[in-house]
Amino acid sequence: MQIEKNRVVSFHYRLSEPEAGVIEESHGRDPVLYLHGHRGILAGLEEALAGRQAGESFSVTLPPERAYGLRDENARQRIPKSHVVGVGKGGRADFRPGMVVRVNTGEGQRAVVVTKVGLKTLDVDANHPLAGRTLSFDIEVIDVREASPEEIEHGHAHGEGGHAH
Ligand code: ZN
Repeated sequence: MQIEKNRVVSFHYRLSEPEAGVIEESHGRDPVLYLHGHRGILAGLEEALAGRQAGESFSVTLPPERAYGLRDENARQRIPKSHVVGVGKGGRADFRPGMVVRVNTGEGQRAVVVTKVGLKTLDVDANHPLAGRTLSFDIEVIDVREASPEEIEHGHAHGEGGHAH
């Protein structure tokens, strides 16, 4: 069965970068499960999966614009520690560079990476950790099946590795 809109696909992936090597992979755990045609995964990846079948393996390289976007230098900011979700007025917490914290913004909470820890402030970077990077995916399609009417209505896949509710 071919991958097309409203079919549920499971696949294994290995995500790597030319300089950094393997960043992460699904081998050794459950494959990724998604409903094709509903923007559940990166658009560039979904495009590359279209028309494939179970058992097929392929590689695709996505430039930043087609993966997690370009880095936005305006997304780097200095914020008071008290803006971090879960931190009280005193701003006491064990912050370390590289740590991902959630902050309150005008548009709700968002995850940011701590780049520098000051006395009362933190330098944070709200870019996606993979923004600005060219990424290669080695994909192995495990299974392709028809989606249930409920999955199509919800816009995501149900079952092992999918949406549980
Ligand atoms: Zn659902």
